[in-house]
Amino acid sequence: MAKIEDFNTGQTPVWCPGCGNFGILMAVRSALAELNIKRENTLIVSGIGCSDKYNQYVNTYAFESIHGRILPVAMGARLANYNLKVVCIGGDGDGYGIGMCHFVHAARRNLNLTYIVCDNQIYGLTTGQTSPTSDKGFKTKSTPNGNIEMPVNPLTIALSAGATYVARGFAGDVATLKELIKGGIQHNGFAVIDVFQPCVTFNYKNTYEWFNAKLYKLGEDHDTSSKEMAFKRANESEKLPIGLFYKEDKPTYEDEALPAKAKPLVEQDISNVNVDDLMDELM
Ligand code: SF4
Repeated sequence: MAKIEDFNTGQTPVWCPGCGNFGILMAVRSALAELNIKRENTLIVSGIGCSDKYNQYVNTYAFESIHGRILPVAMGARLANYNLKVVCIGGDGDGYGIGMCHFVHAARRNLNLTYIVCDNQIYGLTTGQTSPTSDKGFKTKSTPNGNIEMPVNPLTIALSAGATYVARGFAGDVATLKELIKGGIQHNGFAVIDVFQPCVTFNYKNTYEWFNAKLYKLGEDHDTSSKEMAFKRANESEKLPIGLFYKEDKPTYEDEALPAKAKPLVEQDISNVNVDDLMDELM
């Protein structure tokens, strides 16, 4: 059986003390260990931002992409090797700002990917600007008079676009988050887990105390097969639910795009293929 320590690279995280990313990191490592995931068969893809350092701290294969491009890289990896477990981890600025178009298309394609979004409602790495999920009225360096825009709702967007596993967790509740991540990794399809992640340095509003007063867990009365109910819960704003909002089983993109029982691209014999012509054309 795998242990949590197996997924520790030994590097010391550079996050600010108290950052919500520490709780998410613990949940990710614990989920991978409890699922007995093979490190050599797992890829973490991240982008740019405070929340895009998981590739350095989780001991699996890793790819650090550019800002907002986590999902295209992950889609390519899955199509080249459908035996690879691919976990995407990034921030709200990365995923819901510049990467929003990829988010929508990955959801509608239903590739077998797990996408964890560390949603701190601010740009932390660039020292505190309004992000796509910042609340209206929120004052930051980029909105000194208060944000005049409404925040995006990642859950309703994921549901509308066709994501088949839609969940929300909290960095301050590692036990619940770990189970949501395990469920997402086990799910055969596009799994989105939006995670409230306090940024203790730049987000003075959405603090651990603020979340503890606002959050509640979805109970047994919530039907995860009902998209209507999922939308209703995802639109709540007085109190904010965490848990699994929606789950649906349907064929994945890989099921439909790749010939049955075909070897993954990375395992196919290309020794008799002359790629020189192609290289000449591209160079
Ligand atoms: Fe975490 Fe915010 Fe510090 Fe970034 S700036 S490491 S998000 S507390």
